[in-house]
Amino acid sequence: MTSQEVRAQFLDFFKGKKHKIVPSAPIVMKDDPTLMFTNAGMNQFKEFFLGNSISKSKRISDTQKCLRVSGKHNDLEEVGKDTYHHTMFEMLGNWSFGDYFKKEAIQWAWELLTDVYKIDKDSLYVSVFEGSDDADSLKMDKEAFDLWKAIVPEDRIIMGNKKDNFWEMGDQGPCGPCSEIHVDIRSKEEKAKVTGASLVNQDHPQVVEIWNLVFMQYNRKANGQLENLPEKHVDTGMGFERLCMVLQGVKSNYDTDVFTPLIREIETITGRKYGKDEETDIAIRVVSDHIRAVAFSIADGQLPSNTGAGYVIRRILRRGIRYGFTFLGTNKPFIYRLVKVLGETMGKAFPELREQYQLIENVVKEEENSFLSTLEQGLVLLDSVIKSSKNKTIDGQKAFELYDTFGFPIDLTSLILEEKGYKLDVEGFEKALKAQKDRSRAASEVSKEDWVVLLEDAEQEFIGYDTLEANVKLVKYRKVTSKKGGDQYHLVFNLTPFYAEGGGQVGDKGYLETTNGDVIYIIDTKKENNEIVHFSENLPKDVSGILKATVDKKQRWRTASNHTATHLLHQALREILGTHVEQKGSAVHSKYLRFDFSHFSKLSVEELRDVENFVNARIEGQLPFEESRNIPIKEAMDQGAMALFGEKYGDTVRTVRFGQSIELCGGTHVKNTADIWHFKIVSEGAVAAGIRRIEAITSDAVKEFYFKNNRMLFEIKDLLNNAQDPVKAVVGLQEENSTLKKQVEQLLKDKAKGLKNELISELNEINGVQFLSKKVDLDAGGIKDLAFEIGGQYSNLFLLLAAEKDGKALLSCYISKELVSEKGLNAGTIVRELGKHIQGGGGGQPFFATAGGKNPSGIQEALDKVKEYIS
Ligand code: ATP
Ligand code: MG
Repeated sequence: MTSQEVRAQFLDFFKGKKHKIVPSAPIVMKDDPTLMFTNAGMNQFKEFFLGNSISKSKRISDTQKCLRVSGKHNDLEEVGKDTYHHTMFEMLGNWSFGDYFKKEAIQWAWELLTDVYKIDKDSLYVSVFEGSDDADSLKMDKEAFDLWKAIVPEDRIIMGNKKDNFWEMGDQGPCGPCSEIHVDIRSKEEKAKVTGASLVNQDHPQVVEIWNLVFMQYNRKANGQLENLPEKHVDTGMGFERLCMVLQGVKSNYDTDVFTPLIREIETITGRKYGKDEETDIAIRVVSDHIRAVAFSIADGQLPSNTGAGYVIRRILRRGIRYGFTFLGTNKPFIYRLVKVLGETMGKAFPELREQYQLIENVVKEEENSFLSTLEQGLVLLDSVIKSSKNKTIDGQKAFELYDTFGFPIDLTSLILEEKGYKLDVEGFEKALKAQKDRSRAASEVSKEDWVVLLEDAEQEFIGYDTLEANVKLVKYRKVTSKKGGDQYHLVFNLTPFYAEGGGQVGDKGYLETTNGDVIYIIDTKKENNEIVHFSENLPKDVSGILKATVDKKQRWRTASNHTATHLLHQALREILGTHVEQKGSAVHSKYLRFDFSHFSKLSVEELRDVENFVNARIEGQLPFEESRNIPIKEAMDQGAMALFGEKYGDTVRTVRFGQSIELCGGTHVKNTADIWHFKIVSEGAVAAGIRRIEAITSDAVKEFYFKNNRMLFEIKDLLNNAQDPVKAVVGLQEENSTLKKQVEQLLKDKAKGLKNELISELNEINGVQFLSKKVDLDAGGIKDLAFEIGGQYSNLFLLLAAEKDGKALLSCYISKELVSEKGLNAGTIVRELGKHIQGGGGGQPFFATAGGKNPSGIQEALDKVKEYIS
């Protein structure tokens, strides 16, 4: 059975059980401060489990792109070493939101595996939560046990502890006991030796967990306590690649048709064979796995970068590059060449891979190029560290610097050291690493208290499209303390005019007024689990009173101008550059807007002008704002609205139209494009391979821009004695300046020549040496030129020239090479000693050296003293 069929059968099965099939959510998280990446199928439904909103369908099923490389679920270091953990994998899942519970979940899972997929019943084991006697003191899951006992023999039911049989998404949030299904794919002979039951949850590569059925019934609070969820839910997750391994009768996920095309391509590119030796195999698995994680993330809009989620992606890719470099002998980019194969095998289920193939390839290739050159530089640096090391152990702090400043991986460092017979001071490295981690943790740590709920079951409504003011009530609040200092409060209201950061647009600011006139400032607004959270620095005295909430109108209006202009800019770019232009990110602030888009070359001056003209024509065209709220997504797409990759859309959407520009958008906009007043691009540049960025301003910011430029022009005119034509006046000044420069140069030359003749006439012959020590009025460069010029005329010259400039003293000593060798004189030593008189130091070569010091009054002493060296 092909992997395509495995996926299709799963979804068909649950469709048959009245589940609604939904698309995978993006792999990169947007509205959840606790998670960077989707790490389980349930993430996108968290709000339903928490009861923040109600799902329209009580039964849902899908396949979800997951990434487990950070936070509570982090498999990164295992990946490649074993045969059944991936960074990116698909999780097949079925959910019940307050609908069916354990009975159906267990029976259907069994039916699907044994009746539909026809997995041998005798190879399956199931586990049940045994209870815990820790602080949670939970009971054994008797209900699940009894349900399983009706289906499988008791000796195949395994009692599991909290680590394996109590599922939690993170430190806080929905959780509950679970039943796992494990499969034993060992050979008959192996099975005869040891029972499968004894290998369950023992990290055996052929007795693996394939499905986890979680029975959500608790919420873990910030203080660690569990509370019952208002309703009980089912959340299941089955590893798609592991299921394919079982159904295709192979012993490793990497031997399924999900991975073999990638592995064949790696073999072709590198000339290495998979399955011959362990080190090569690990490297090939790492590369074939990591390209998936990276490609899916880029397709969902997360480019590699230096911070946050982008940094995680960069590190995954670098791990792949490094394994290739070390074990597959690749020192040129090659991973990008896998993107095409990936698109061919997975593009049907995930079209974003095919549609963005070119972009992904470019970005990966550029990352490979830059990291390979880092590796090369690192090798050189490491070499010099080795050379300067006095014993056979390399300082941990040095290795840390290589790692921290140059991104040179520590395992590569130890590998190279090992090959050369050196050792790494691992303890010193760990210490330096820990110190750095402690520093950054201390800077970013925040602790959140539990929500204090004032109004149970209150509906929450956003009314900020239509009004900027409303009387609201506090539904709940919590206190947040950051180690960096300062408390903050998170406030949730029953209704709010405040727009929460999203779709690239910043959150609203504003204030609350209490009935007795107190004012509380709202400094930001963000979304969390589909709730609108307002940030403030204090709390109203009476938390249950009526509050008048007012949005900062000026900021909102400027932001709206920039948001509407962003749509027009998007339209302009597709019109002028072509439809390959796709939005790759945007930031809509009150002061400016930023728009990232796919395009392969720098925009010419003409293109930029055309884009500006296009947008301004639509501003002058006074196009009205036309919006449709809550229309079916299909209808919106039929009207020509464009969906963005990496965005999660519901069944119904909002469209925003200005003339021919129509977008799916939740942001706030002006009522008419005329409100924008004017659009001006202020910069254009590259952000990554194939991605350009435009920054632009509108409305008041343009006025300020012109006002500033105008004022500058006035100032310039003023400085030019009110010249009628300032450009002409500046050109005149430039010409005059260059003539004067030439004259000054000539004068200086003449002066130097005069000085040279003067100095030559003052030379004194002492003991066969042409000697002079003198203070001159020249800078360091001038002195050097002069000394060398006179030096060219004598073979027995000894000059000490001194100068004073800006309160500092300078000594320059020139000694003919002949004198250096005959008399053993050394200008370097001499200036160092004379430097004491001017309170400074210096050095150089035996025939020419300089010293600088901060005591010009010592110059004369030095000039007098120098005679001693030749007499
Ligand atoms: P394991 O103990 O094998 O790491 P898990 O307990 O972390 O698995 P769950 O969090 O319950 O797994 O996820 C549900 C299912 O997703 C698992 O039964 C497994 O089939 C699959 N799965 C989990 N992690 C990975 C991974 N890193 N790569 C591939 N499949 C995975
Ligand atoms: Mg795990």
